[in-house]
Amino acid sequence: MLAHPTPGRPLIPLAPILSASSFRRAHNAPVRTVLDAGEVRLVTSGRVAIALALRELGVQAGERVLVPAYHSASMVPPVLWRGAEPVFYRVCADAAVDLEDLAEKMTPGVRAVMVTHYFGFPQDLAPVRALCDARGVALIEDCAHCFIGERDGRPVGAWGDYAIASSMKFLPIYEGGALVSARHSLNKVVLRSAGAGFELKVALNSLERGFAYGRLPAVRAALRLPLRAKSAVWGLLKKRRGGGAAPMLAPDSSDSSFNFDPNWLDKRSSLFARAMLKLAAPGRIAALRRRHYARLEAAVRDLPGVRPLHPRLPDGACPWVFPLLADDPDALFARLKTRGVPLTRFGTPPWPGVDASTCANSARLATHVLALPCHQELTEVEMSWLAASLREAVTA
Ligand SMILES: *Cc1c(COP(=O)(O)O)cnc(C)c1O
Repeated sequence: MLAHPTPGRPLIPLAPILSASSFRRAHNAPVRTVLDAGEVRLVTSGRVAIALALRELGVQAGERVLVPAYHSASMVPPVLWRGAEPVFYRVCADAAVDLEDLAEKMTPGVRAVMVTHYFGFPQDLAPVRALCDARGVALIEDCAHCFIGERDGRPVGAWGDYAIASSMKFLPIYEGGALVSARHSLNKVVLRSAGAGFELKVALNSLERGFAYGRLPAVRAALRLPLRAKSAVWGLLKKRRGGGAAPMLAPDSSDSSFNFDPNWLDKRSSLFARAMLKLAAPGRIAALRRRHYARLEAAVRDLPGVRPLHPRLPDGACPWVFPLLADDPDALFARLKTRGVPLTRFGTPPWPGVDASTCANSARLATHVLALPCHQELTEVEMSWLAASLREAVTA
């Protein structure tokens, strides 16, 4: 994913890219992450962690797994991989779990329920946990949007039988996910290295993305030769394998597809990603993301036709993005794109067959919520430009 600058417009990355912002340890206030919730296995993606959680639970063919109607399509293939049937439950207008619908759908044969902390806002999981305990159903806490955060004195991930995380959404890394459990041993989850080719590719891709956005100029100069060497090595590897059927060097999750490849189940996250996790300063990341979120919220506060999905950012929450509800989302999306504002939508496309008749709120959220970046790598200049461009696009 290389970026092409337009003159006069800052080049703003949608997701965290490598710069110094994630790592400076000064101002690293004590915050807790999903990795603090229990025993941890670092894998290559969130969807692999979901598959491992389902395998650990012994979910089998013929059983059912409850998945939110508002979801990433990447959450479903691991369920199908177990031979189980996904059943979609409803969410409320603000994306909170619709407890009544969840209780109704917990029929015999349902083994597990996945709950997502959308956009980094921790759900109230006490009632969901109680319902799961009463019905003998396992809870998988999806922290893909919520790597950092706590609620009611517990780190995110502490309520679930298993929790899963997608480190790529919070850190400038090319692959990474986590399986976490506060309640069960992960002794049986044994991981091994995916090989030297994978290690090299991950490290160099992360650096290259940083360079593409003009970060890390000093490192770039130092690495000019190694990066050229990388292309040469790639060519050689391909030739040695006879061109065709080269093995996948990175999981699908790194290419923004929704596929799930079971070959990655037992693979450990790269050395590069694990080193980044060790070096990262979550307190600083959370503080910057909260500050950027507040900036965008202030930019649209008095404007007609838009409002933040949540009226306020709760203490202890670390936003993944700034979710903005728009009355006329398609027109606003187009105006923002024209201006070069990076943005995305969540929950679209849904898994085939899931639509407004499954859950009207999910369908509305998937179309009406526009997600703007608020990650830690954004600079002062970029934030000012983002806030101004957002105001302009809304009032145009
Ligand atoms: C991205 C995402 C996942 C899967 O994470 P990957 O690391 O991309 O496999 C799971 N759940 C939600 C809600 C997501 O947004």
